[in-house]
Amino acid sequence: MAKSLILSVLFVSLISWQYQHTPNNSEKNYLIKNIKHNMILFIISYGIQALLLFRFLPSASQNTTSWSWVMAIFCILYLDLITYFWHRLNHQIPWLWKFHKVHHSDNLLNTSSALRFHFVEVILGTLFRIGFFTFLQLPWHYYFIHELVFQFFNFTQHTKIALNNKLNKIISYVFISPSVHHYHHNILLENSKSYNLSTIFSFWDRCFKTYHYQNAFVDCGLKDQENTAQDLLHSLMAK
Ligand SMILES: [Zn+2]
Repeated sequence: MAKSLILSVLFVSLISWQYQHTPNNSEKNYLIKNIKHNMILFIISYGIQALLLFRFLPSASQNTTSWSWVMAIFCILYLDLITYFWHRLNHQIPWLWKFHKVHHSDNLLNTSSALRFHFVEVILGTLFRIGFFTFLQLPWHYYFIHELVFQFFNFTQHTKIALNNKLNKIISYVFISPSVHHYHHNILLENSKSYNLSTIFSFWDRCFKTYHYQNAFVDCGLKDQENTAQDLLHSLMAK
């Protein structure tokens, strides 16, 4: 409950910030339309995800009293690495890309883009993470700690927060900053040769040679796709 409240406040604050920093009325209207599309996808996808997680909650409640910072950090690192590989598979395997491209079809990245996913990707991604998490028999409450940290970075890196180059470089040494993640959505990049696939820590991209530092914000989206409701419907049908 506390996690949902923290994330809701963060989400609304970032969306409001981006709206206020959108220069004119036509762009503001486009942003509102975009947010509506993304929220519809969010309700479908994350409703299903909540049901999936609920299925595992009985075992989660058995071991929720213990706390270890070492274990919390380990779980965040471990799940972030698993998420890196899952993201990479989504770009390299054509039938997974059919679902992941719903996320990439957004040509006006904003906080709500962080929730724009095809429900099939959300189901498969959740099962992928749960599978690796239960494989090590880790205590369940750390899964939700990772979720909190993950969504913090997911929200902030989809928001167009410009940082000065020096600060951006320092942050990017360890974490994925907004402009670095925007480069992942670069309209000029081939999906199979993507960069900056990490969500929290940038060193996974450095380790696996998929890192590209970027300070300026690039144009985002897909070359062959507009961001209309019809395009969205087509990509939801995995066409
Ligand atoms: Zn991607």
